[in-house]
Amino acid sequence: MSLITVGTMAFDAIETPFGKADKIIGGSATYVAYAASNFVKPVQQISIVGNDFPKEEMEELRSRGVHLDGVEVVPDKKSFFWSGRYHEDMNSRDTLVTDLNVLADFDPKVPDSFQGAEFLMLGNLMPKLQLNVIQELKQRPKLIVMDTMNFWMETAMNDLKIVLRYVDMLMVNDAEARQLTSEYSLVKAARAIMQMGPKYLIIKKGEHGALLFHGDDVFYAPALPLEDVFDPTGAGDTFAGGFMGHLAKTKDISFENMKTAIIVGSAMASFCVEKFGPTRLKEINKDDIDNRVQQFKDLVNFEIELV
Ligand code: AMP
Repeated sequence: MSLITVGTMAFDAIETPFGKADKIIGGSATYVAYAASNFVKPVQQISIVGNDFPKEEMEELRSRGVHLDGVEVVPDKKSFFWSGRYHEDMNSRDTLVTDLNVLADFDPKVPDSFQGAEFLMLGNLMPKLQLNVIQELKQRPKLIVMDTMNFWMETAMNDLKIVLRYVDMLMVNDAEARQLTSEYSLVKAARAIMQMGPKYLIIKKGEHGALLFHGDDVFYAPALPLEDVFDPTGAGDTFAGGFMGHLAKTKDISFENMKTAIIVGSAMASFCVEKFGPTRLKEINKDDIDNRVQQFKDLVNFEIELV
């Protein structure tokens, strides 16, 4: 039950209506790994960092069963840096800075020990690099899932459309689904995306939950109504980590099991937003996760008799 995760390991600077953090750990692959390692070990990480990325963070990930053989450390360059500011509603944000730094020359390699993985999570990254990883694999995984964002649609749309042909599932938020297809209706956008390659699609809608599409089937999972959302950064990646972690653990990629996985992903994301960066993800244990999943079940559990 092996899972390869690919993406950024980064420093983030974040502004929300509740506070500001100047330089904290972030990156799509970091969040995916913290979330997925609760369900599957090893998590096989492919990424790149500079000499400034803290050794303690690498140790923390290792201690959770994240294998870092695929993480290149560049001695004389800085790690990827991203900075964003959230709007009052916390559902939308503006990117203020994207400094590629080490990412600009990244040529991802799949270590031999990672070959044969059954699940591949292509976290948010340059589409060309996501494709490189797929092409480096000697055996096609059972399920390839891909995330992306507006930044890559604006700078590398053609490459992005090529990768889409090779993946089983795309995970994006509602604004990204609309940007990718120029369709406002999410149902039309979903149909258009599934014609671009992926057979499955998840559209995340922040505090309004997530939709899973496959053919004519649609499943909706709510987000937990939380009293305080402190920092939504990484919620999408954490969702992806929980989703893939559950699928990799159960080795079942049926639509039915994806419904459970989407709830697990939503539960993990609900922890992520409670504190700045990945802080909260480092505090939780299996009981916390089980309780949160139960809260989700209670939230939507009702019976209805049609007469
Ligand atoms: P999310 O909030 O789930 O969209 O993910 C936020 C994380 O993605 C942050 O920790 C950033 O470091 C990382 N990130 C931001 N922009 C990019 C980008 N263009 N490519 C890859 N990762 C990014």
